[in-house]
Amino acid sequence: MTTTLPAYDEVVARYEPVIGLETHVELGTNTKMFCGCPTDFGGEPNTRVCPVCLGLPGSLPVANKAAIEATIRIGLALNCSIAQWCRFARKNYFYPDMPKDFQISQYDEPLCSDGYLDVEVDGELVRIGIERVHLEEDTGKTLHVGGATGRIHGATESLVDYNRAGIPLVEIVTKPVPGTGALAPEVAKAYVTELRDVLRSLGVSDVRMEEGSLRCDVNTSLNLPGEEWGTRTETKNVNSLRSVERAVRSEILRQASVLDAGGRITQETRHFHEDTGDTTPGRSKETATDYRYFPEPDLVPLAPDTAWVAELKAALPELPRLHRRRLQEQWGLSDLDMQSVLNAGAVELIEATVAAGTTPAAARKWWLGELSRRANETGTELADIGATPAQVAELQGLVDAGKLNDKLARTVLEGVVAGEGSPTEIMTNRGLEVVSDTGALTAAVDEAIAANPGIADKIRSGKVAAAGALVGAVMKATRGQADAKTVRDLVLERLGVQG
Ligand SMILES: [Zn+2]
Repeated sequence: MTTTLPAYDEVVARYEPVIGLETHVELGTNTKMFCGCPTDFGGEPNTRVCPVCLGLPGSLPVANKAAIEATIRIGLALNCSIAQWCRFARKNYFYPDMPKDFQISQYDEPLCSDGYLDVEVDGELVRIGIERVHLEEDTGKTLHVGGATGRIHGATESLVDYNRAGIPLVEIVTKPVPGTGALAPEVAKAYVTELRDVLRSLGVSDVRMEEGSLRCDVNTSLNLPGEEWGTRTETKNVNSLRSVERAVRSEILRQASVLDAGGRITQETRHFHEDTGDTTPGRSKETATDYRYFPEPDLVPLAPDTAWVAELKAALPELPRLHRRRLQEQWGLSDLDMQSVLNAGAVELIEATVAAGTTPAAARKWWLGELSRRANETGTELADIGATPAQVAELQGLVDAGKLNDKLARTVLEGVVAGEGSPTEIMTNRGLEVVSDTGALTAAVDEAIAANPGIADKIRSGKVAAAGALVGAVMKATRGQADAKTVRDLVLERLGVQG
C-alpha cells in the first residue's frame, strides 16, 4: 500500500513532536566488561571469547573497573548525579547472540542519573535532559547468510560471532524532549553530534557510528497541541548523524499520515533504511516486566567512593562546546565563520594544524578551501582526505619560507592527498620549488624583455603597470615556479625603472 505523505511544514504546524534518544556506546577498554577477553575490533569470529562471555555454566563475572570509571566520567560530563550504591541487574530474554539467555545490565539503580547536555541548534541553546547513564554488556553478532539482503528473511543459515559479547556498553537515555517543533530532527542530530564530541573528548570510546561503537535509537511521538503525548515508536540502530535527522523526520511524517487517516500508532520498534530514508516495523515493543529483571546475584553492588568521584570530576577535560567557544575567540572568527568550520568538520584539524605552528588563518584557508573542495568532490570526510594537520602545517611552512607560492603549494597538496609523501619530498621529487636563483630568473627576464620590445619601451617611459605582462611571460616560462614579486622587481631593475 502506498500512501502519500503530507508536507513536513504542514504536519509540524498541526502536531507537536516529542523525541527521545537512547544511545549505546561501546567503551574503549582493553578488556570486556566481566572477563579478561580483549575487545579490539575486527578479529576472526569467536577468537576473543572465554567461559564467562560464552555464558558457560559455573563461570563467574568480575566487573571491569576501567569501564565503571569511564561510565562515571560520562555521567559527570553530562551533569548527572552518581549513585553512591547501585547494583547490576539481569535482563532475561533469549536471543541467539546472547548465550547466557540474559544480559547483565542495570535496571532501577543506574550508576548515573538526572543530568543534561546543552546543544546548539540555529544559534539557540537547547537543554536536553538526561534520564540515566548505565552500564551493561554488549551482545554478540548474528550474521544471516544465503539471502539477498543479509537480513534473516530469505537467509539459508545464520552464524553467530561472540567476539562482541561482553564488551562494555554504556546506555545513555534522554528524558523526553518536547517543544522543539519543526526543529525536532535537527535537535536530535545536534544532540547525538554533541554527545559524540563529549565522549570523544573524554577518550572513553572511538565513537565510530559506522563500526557500531556508537549506536542510536530514536523515539518519536506526535500529539495535538494541548493533548497528552502520543504513543512513541523506537527507530533502532540509526547509524549516521545524518540518519538520526532523517529518521525523526520520516517517523514524524509517517505517524502524521496514520493519525490523519484516523489510525492509531502502535508502540513498536522500527528499522531505519539508509537507502530510502524510511522506517519499517520491527517487533512490538516489550515492556520492562517481560524481561523479569532482578538484581544480579553473581556481582557485588557498586559503591563508588565519593572522594574518587570528586577526583574524576576535577579531572574532566574542557567540554567540547566551551572548547569550541574558546577556539573561536582565539581564532578571531565570527559565529558564521565558526559555523562553516563546524559544518566542514574541521575544528580539530585546524586546531592540530595551528598547534603544529601555522597561523589560524592559514590553517583555515587550506582546510576550508582546497581540502574541503576535494572532500566534497570525492564524498570523503575531511578527516579522511589523506592530508594530516602536520602535513598542512609543513606545506604552509614552505609557503612562508618562500619555497612555494600559492599555486605550487596547491599542486604539492594534490600530491600529499594522493599519498606521494610529505610536502617537502613532493616539492623536491617533482621539482616544484620556487626558482629563487636570481641568475636564472634574470636570464628569463631578459628574454621576456627582448621578446616584447614594445612593452619594455612603455615601462621605460613610466607606465609601470605594463610590467604585469612581462611578469606573466616570465612566470609562464618558469612554469609558475618563480616568485611573482621577485620577477616584477627584476623586470623594473633591468629596465632601470623605480618600482
Ligand atoms: Zn570472555
